[in-house]
Amino acid sequence: PVRLADVSRTFGAPGRTDRTVLRDVDLQVAPGEIVAVLGPSGCGKSTLLRQVSGLDAPTAGSVTIGGAPVVGADPRTAVAFQEPRLLPWRTLTQNVALGLPPGTTKDVGQERVARLLDLVGLAGSAGLRPRQVSGGMAQRASLARALARNPGVLLLDEPFGALDALTRLRMQDLLLDVHAAQPATILLVTHDVEEALYLADRVVLLRTVADGAAASDGGLLAAAGPASIARIVDVPG
Ligand code: ATP
Ligand code: MG
Repeated sequence: PVRLADVSRTFGAPGRTDRTVLRDVDLQVAPGEIVAVLGPSGCGKSTLLRQVSGLDAPTAGSVTIGGAPVVGADPRTAVAFQEPRLLPWRTLTQNVALGLPPGTTKDVGQERVARLLDLVGLAGSAGLRPRQVSGGMAQRASLARALARNPGVLLLDEPFGALDALTRLRMQDLLLDVHAAQPATILLVTHDVEEALYLADRVVLLRTVADGAAASDGGLLAAAGPASIARIVDVPG
């Protein structure tokens, strides 16, 4: 499981007041579980994902995957963002291959990239460059690149946020197909409540508490007043 225990993250800069963005966040995600993270803009959702990917480190508390601590950029994780962040001069195949773990042999790599392009419906576009394909296709390539690492933990930061409504719905179903084919533990940040309820086994709410820090209650927003903490509610998949 992915486990965040009492995770806090305070940003400080010389001459400025420190800003606590996450405080005492406790969260456990079971293997293969899809957990959606909801919360207002600026509450610390991306910061939370960065604690799990190891791209950032907590100022207090601990993050473990399968009991082993996350120290630095963690190869057990892969991230996909709202923008596909593909290299423009490389083909989709080459971009997806960038996600392969270091040391992957050529044969294994080629086979995996081809399988993933097929899985995300890009087999026929493998030789195209990012500017030759639609935003939805680029985003599918970005997802395939993250999966190429064969990550135990897939971190998705508003992955469909920039897509039109119809493409977004297709991508949601694609993600479920992908999860069935390659069942990673998924933390999905989204602003779309319906998307969260549709995709996730559980919805986590990050809410801002009195002095500005976000607290996780691992729960779903119920009829709770501001600054109160909801309890964990499992959303049927
Ligand atoms: P959004 O929904 O808009 O993506 P978010 O919930 O992902 O927002 P974060 O990007 O995690 O929010 O940022 C939370 C807060 O932490 C913001 O106020 C941001 O300015 C601050 N912050 C994030 N990274 C840093 C940093 N490296 N140094 C200082 N402050 C930071
Ligand atoms: Mg964010």
